[in-house]
Amino acid sequence: MADNHHKVIIIGSGPAGLTAALYNARANLEPVVFEGIQPGGQLTITTEVENFPGFEEGIQGPELMDIMRKQAQRFGAKTYFKEVTEVDFSTRPFVVKSNNETYTADAVIVSTGASAKWLGIPSEEEYKGYGVSACATCDGFFFKNQKVIVIGGGDSAMEEANYLTKFASEVLIVHRREEFRASRIMAERAEKNPKIKFALNKVVKEILGENKDGRKMVTGAILEDTRDGSTEQVEVDGIFLAIGHKPNTDLFKGQLEMDETGYLVVKGSSTYTNVPGVFAAGDVADHVYRQAVTAAGMGCRAAIDAERWLAEQGIE
Ligand code: NAP
Repeated sequence: MADNHHKVIIIGSGPAGLTAALYNARANLEPVVFEGIQPGGQLTITTEVENFPGFEEGIQGPELMDIMRKQAQRFGAKTYFKEVTEVDFSTRPFVVKSNNETYTADAVIVSTGASAKWLGIPSEEEYKGYGVSACATCDGFFFKNQKVIVIGGGDSAMEEANYLTKFASEVLIVHRREEFRASRIMAERAEKNPKIKFALNKVVKEILGENKDGRKMVTGAILEDTRDGSTEQVEVDGIFLAIGHKPNTDLFKGQLEMDETGYLVVKGSSTYTNVPGVFAAGDVADHVYRQAVTAAGMGCRAAIDAERWLAEQGIE
């Protein structure tokens, strides 16, 4: 077979993709990982990771991903700093294109993850990882006895706000409308929590911060009233985005089965997609848990599913 043919191509390089690469590499399948535009995935935009087992003192997100990549490479996995721009899963072998280059694979593992939705304002970009986060489970712990904002009016916003009250002294939910999108039960739970306050019909117009002893930190936000455009300034130490996630599945539209929100559908508790030989792992197929450790676990399952499926096809 040509140089650009591989037994397994893994698309995406977060915990799911790199764990799949580690397992397939140790099975001598010489997997190739297309790392995409954000090598290492969502963990590279967080700072301290304290809930990944095995790191007693915690570890920085980018460092964890670096270790995962090197661990897979040690067993022969190749990682390309390339973005997949097109796939064709209707032919065998499967076709995976990166701009002008064409690759083929006997099996493909899709682990392109999901992206948190962001407001898209410059100050948010500036303080991402320094007080601005899209994951309360990951970063809530850093806000002990501090004041934080949660942006959003859906179930995630209510859940994250409740969770954050374990640490924060006050949580202000900022929502752009009067009514919540969240289910009644979730909204009521937040309303009954004495540590949660609400700023309705408000959007965060700007995030304020400063550079203290060489470290950037959030100090507040400017809220704008969506009805009359008036603004007010609030002092907070952290801002949590909970305005939804978007699975990175545009590439697979019309080829892989997705649910109504675009997440890939897998068969039962396996990682099989609707196309035999194409497997899915991590956040791209999981909108429930969305944790590094669950993604890594699913990456392991996808690698084993792919290995067994390849063996059934006579490819070892
Ligand atoms: P969601 O239901 O889509 O809610 C997103 C919220 O963010 C909405 O209130 C929306 O406002 C707001 N929003 C969107 N873009 C915004 C922007 N640019 N600026 C300001 N606000 C913005 O997303 P989700 O809360 O992440 O939930 C996703 C799915 O997971 C839902 O099906 C949910 O039920 C489920 N979920 C379930 C649980 C649970 O049951 N325990 C927990 C979490 C999530 P509008 O309302 O004005 O559109």
